[in-house]
Amino acid sequence: MGLLMTRPDWVAQGDRRVGILGGTFDPIHYGHLVIAEQVREALELDRVLFVPAAIPPHKPEAVLAPATDRAAMVELAIAGNPAFTISRIELERDGPSYTVDTVGELVDEAARQGVARDFFFILSAEALTGLDAWHEPLRLMSLCRLAVVPRPGAPLPDGAWLESHLPAAAGASAGAGVDRVVCVETVPLAHSASDVRTRAAAGRSIRYLVPPAVEAYIREHRLYRSDHARRTA
Ligand code: ATP
Repeated sequence: MGLLMTRPDWVAQGDRRVGILGGTFDPIHYGHLVIAEQVREALELDRVLFVPAAIPPHKPEAVLAPATDRAAMVELAIAGNPAFTISRIELERDGPSYTVDTVGELVDEAARQGVARDFFFILSAEALTGLDAWHEPLRLMSLCRLAVVPRPGAPLPDGAWLESHLPAAAGASAGAGVDRVVCVETVPLAHSASDVRTRAAAGRSIRYLVPPAVEAYIREHRLYRSDHARRTA
């Protein structure tokens, strides 16, 4: 692979504004797809990368569906949207899936391509409240901006909250001030992957919570069934 070529599952050479939606996607649901699409539109992104985590640092004890299944469901869900791409960057890397390492790799890739590229890490206001506990949050915010969306029960934060809660409050001089946060008002959907898993385990309907192809995949692979031995990714 030549230096100027991008890896097939990463961004294209011409992409200038790129969103990154990291998650366990166990499974991907319409809540994820709506925030990705509406942030793409609001921030005029060329691309949104969906990045399934291998071992999410904040859920180390979690028993996940196999990474191959979670990635396959992401692929099925985003098929047909030319602005959406899956990246297996975290699945190919050993150890915990630190967001800062992922964004760092993407920034390095842009530098190798000689391309000026802005990255926006998309996360809900709920996830933002835990940012302090992430690995190197200040460095993360110096590498990318945070695109924060509301989630039912977690409205968008105001400036005062950001000033007092973000690790970036102390990081302005390090290029990681609260101006690195962009709030995007997206349509609130109360979907959660845990709810989808609970319903699937009980044999209840998950129709309209996940795309039809994801619903079929879960059924065919007997994912989340209480009689299905789940293993860690
Ligand atoms: P689980 O229920 O297993 O905890 P989840 O539904 O929160 O999973 P993740 O893959 O952990 O899904 O989420 C990835 C990102 O998407 C996180 O920032 C999460 O807060 C956000 N997100 C997930 N569902 C929604 C939703 N319905 N509305 C807004 N943001 C969401």
